[in-house]
Amino acid sequence: MSKSTLSEIVDLFLLRVTPPEGETERPYYTTGSIVAAALFRLTLILFLAMLFNDQYRGTGWWWTAVTLAAWGLGAYPAWLQYRRFNEDVRVLQENTLCGSCRHFNPTNQLCTVLDVHVTSNEPPCGGDEWEPLQ
Ligand code: SF4
Repeated sequence: MSKSTLSEIVDLFLLRVTPPEGETERPYYTTGSIVAAALFRLTLILFLAMLFNDQYRGTGWWWTAVTLAAWGLGAYPAWLQYRRFNEDVRVLQENTLCGSCRHFNPTNQLCTVLDVHVTSNEPPCGGDEWEPLQ
């Protein structure tokens, strides 16, 4: 099934604030992807603002609109994604064996021994490599 145009735009600009269904192989959000996506959107907004600045700067609303776009399309989705990321990490830390293991890196939800993402209750090592947090 093909994605809708709206869905394609949302994915193109990394505006999705909840992971798509069936996305289980890797964490949909990491701090790096959130920051990179926010910078990408803010750069694009700033570029468009400079491009159309000569035409609209005398209108009185131009920079208000640019500021609102920077907040609404640039920063706010990143804030929602970061909250979602933190919630996912909290759930993993509280509900999984990996969450209590010293090899679990919550920053990118990665097992540092196997170099794989932890995305479910099932530890990728099967519990064989588990070591307690110190
Ligand atoms: S070593 Fe095992 S228990 Fe520890 S983080 Fe990796 S997969 Fe999870």
